[in-house]
Amino acid sequence: MHVSENLQYIKDQINDQLEKSKLSTKPNVIAVTKYVTIERAKEAYKAGIKHFGENRVEGFLTKKEQLPDDVTMHFIGSLQTRKVKDVINDIDYFHALDRLKLAKEINKRANHTVKCFVQVNVSGEESKHGIQLSEVTDFIEQLKDYEHIEVVGLMTMAPYTDDETYIKSIFEQLRIKKEHIQQLNLSYAPCNELSMGMSNDYLLAIEEGATFVRIGTKLVGE
Ligand SMILES: *Cc1c(COP(=O)(O)O)cnc(C)c1O
Repeated sequence: MHVSENLQYIKDQINDQLEKSKLSTKPNVIAVTKYVTIERAKEAYKAGIKHFGENRVEGFLTKKEQLPDDVTMHFIGSLQTRKVKDVINDIDYFHALDRLKLAKEINKRANHTVKCFVQVNVSGEESKHGIQLSEVTDFIEQLKDYEHIEVVGLMTMAPYTDDETYIKSIFEQLRIKKEHIQQLNLSYAPCNELSMGMSNDYLLAIEEGATFVRIGTKLVGE
């Protein structure tokens, strides 16, 4: 399938979902290109995609270099502290802030304000990265002295399951936490955004207010 056809299908589904849920803000679609070639990523660009996501330093830098300058680049995977310096100044949005040591290194190496999502392990699965839901507020409060970090929102990955009620409850818990952080009115942590939803669960995420969905398989393929 062409990316443009996949994109049209996804957009139609998103619009139906927004109407059904009586929501008005359209989420940004990030094309996750980690499985595909630069040619396929360029096809996504031609289809109108401006947001691109990669989860490894090498793939990220290749895509960034070869895509046109007006794309917004999202780093969506966990990042080793020692690799921060190689990539941080090419990142527009970083979706996996989950420890202070990493925040410290980002702050030291960045020469711009990096828009960061705090990654939260809502489901508590051991295999998942991210901090626990109960630790989010404390963690964000500790970020106030890092002038190159802006906490734009929270990010999570739902468990891989067919249980839609359970997946929705994960997204709902993240939304409630996001609203809580917003109410703290921290200048460095506006926390207006929710990065949640992938190929299998983006409609559920949108129902719960996702502002960025990260779609690989269903948009550009595996
Ligand atoms: C790979 C990946 C995605 C996209 O996954 P698909 O199921 O292919 O849509 C989204 N978010 C993160 C963090 C990923 O690593």
